Amino acid sequence: MKLLEEIIFELSKLSEDQLTNENLHQIKKNITKKYNVTALPTNIQLQKKYQELVNLWKIKENKALKFLLMKRKVRSLSGIVPIQVLTKPWPCPGKCIFCPDEARMPKSYISSEPWAQRALLNDFDPIKQVYNRLLSLQSSGHNTDKIEMIVLWWSFDAYPYEYKLDFIKKLYDACNTFEDVKSKLSLSSEHPKSARFTIDLDKLDIKLSSSLEEAQKINENAKNRIIWLTIETRPDLVTEENVRFWRKLGVTRLEIWVQSVFNDVLQANKRWHTIEDVKKALHLVRKYWLKISVHMMPWLYKSNPEKDIESFKILFEDPYLKPDELKFYPTSVIPNTELYDLWKKWDYKPITTEEIKYIVKKVKQNYIPPYTRIKRLIRDIPSQEIASWSKITNLRQLINQELLEEKDLLNDKYFMRLFCDNDYKVSIFKFTPNQEDLLKNPVDISTVRKYFHNNFVCLCTRCREIRNKTSALQMDNDMSILLVIRKYNSSVWEEYFISFETLEGYLIWFVRLLLPKDFANWEWLGENVALIRELHVYGLEQKIGKAEEWVQHRGFWKKLMYVAEQIAFKNWYKKISVISGVGVRWFYRKIGYNLEWTYMVKNLA
Ligand code: SF4
Repeated sequence: MKLLEEIIFELSKLSEDQLTNENLHQIKKNITKKYNVTALPTNIQLQKKYQELVNLWKIKENKALKFLLMKRKVRSLSGIVPIQVLTKPWPCPGKCIFCPDEARMPKSYISSEPWAQRALLNDFDPIKQVYNRLLSLQSSGHNTDKIEMIVLWWSFDAYPYEYKLDFIKKLYDACNTFEDVKSKLSLSSEHPKSARFTIDLDKLDIKLSSSLEEAQKINENAKNRIIWLTIETRPDLVTEENVRFWRKLGVTRLEIWVQSVFNDVLQANKRWHTIEDVKKALHLVRKYWLKISVHMMPWLYKSNPEKDIESFKILFEDPYLKPDELKFYPTSVIPNTELYDLWKKWDYKPITTEEIKYIVKKVKQNYIPPYTRIKRLIRDIPSQEIASWSKITNLRQLINQELLEEKDLLNDKYFMRLFCDNDYKVSIFKFTPNQEDLLKNPVDISTVRKYFHNNFVCLCTRCREIRNKTSALQMDNDMSILLVIRKYNSSVWEEYFISFETLEGYLIWFVRLLLPKDFANWEWLGENVALIRELHVYGLEQKIGKAEEWVQHRGFWKKLMYVAEQIAFKNWYKKISVISGVGVRWFYRKIGYNLEWTYMVKNLA
């Protein structure tokens, strides 16, 4: 269509700085007026046209323009696109009083939740769900070459072995075959508005692999690679046998429901596990160095604000807990639950917006350490499904706004918590282009203090990630980058959060290193093995030219791996090993790591 083409041509004449939402809107308005069309074209339509014109060599590739037209940019600003898939309805061993039970959904899911709808439309089929998401993400302009696959349902280990194996194998198959079949997939006329797709697999000639191992092998070099694989489970289902099976499947991250650290609260809500079970589970998961994401539920039955806040304090103090990531799920009252009956009998008072704001603010200001990421503040339940609770939808913005107003008051507190906290020891070094010199130039804390001015609403890795604030990189000045090493203890022993940060505290890259104390029983890796639990980059998926090239040119990822290896070596570890998603093994091979069992390993001697 001429109109779309003309808009793209106009946009492609603009410089990177001029490619703003305001200019985009104005150009859309001017050109649609000229064509006498009332509705403005969507960014998805323009994104499609842009790609077409690039493919036909009518315009040059323009990363800034592509980024401008991308829908929901935030999805890939962390460098990776998430894809959520839901497993089929199945009985859960838990009887939690707040948990909804809808016959056609896995327990606790409500069919009107976005990903639940998508799963239902696609018959809970893993291949259909993945195709659906990949198609939708690519049509909105996202790069899907690095995928975090998230398998939703709280009790993954309640399924039979064969179902779990088949489901995960098909996730790899779907990523491996998508590029061959995507031209045959189309938008369903039944659900045009929701932009969801229904797919008839029988009409597609899909070549599935013959085993999980084969599917994983193919995915190592596929266009759409799974670089993280997440599952969810209950603490009492975490056994050595299950954890080993997860590793075989390629699982790198576990989401686990803790909810409260108080046994009386867990019992009153019929969780059927204790906090001791949680600690045992997390210790085991850490021994296999998976990343740990914990869910907490403020305002459970028989809890109160003080207890809830204390729960978070303990969560970050107890070495058996200390999660890498955190989701807040404030309790809501949903029909067809025991909690709903208690509320009807006036035995439970639901939380108000002010109360949840109070709890979250206290926790953010006082307890979230700089190595943890807050992934969610609220569960995405459609408000019509909530019988009683604050139905607020923009909680994060509200809280962040209030915290921003207090940011000057928080300056000293946040500085101390970033660099001088009692719970972790901090070392700071100047960035040097030569990696051998990285640990040779310590920076005095008073120098950092001179430049520090708090910009953050909280210190979690999400609030500090650089995203598109590339101006904070000060690209003409290497001295604006610091190497910061934070060391703390977990149940397995010493953990290091090693990062490159700007002088203002924005995170560019980080690596999580674990030096375990007592691992003589590692029959497949031997003794004295240091463990890398995560290597992460922020803000590069957008690929908008200068900043990306600048960061790549500095080779930050290699330097971080070098620092981690040096720390392990100086502590007498003989080997270092990375928990790596299947789709990122090639990356570690480039720097001398080889596959041993399910980990990438390098000798340090
Ligand atoms: S374990 Fe999860 S899915 Fe099962 S009843 Fe409890 S909340 Fe619901």
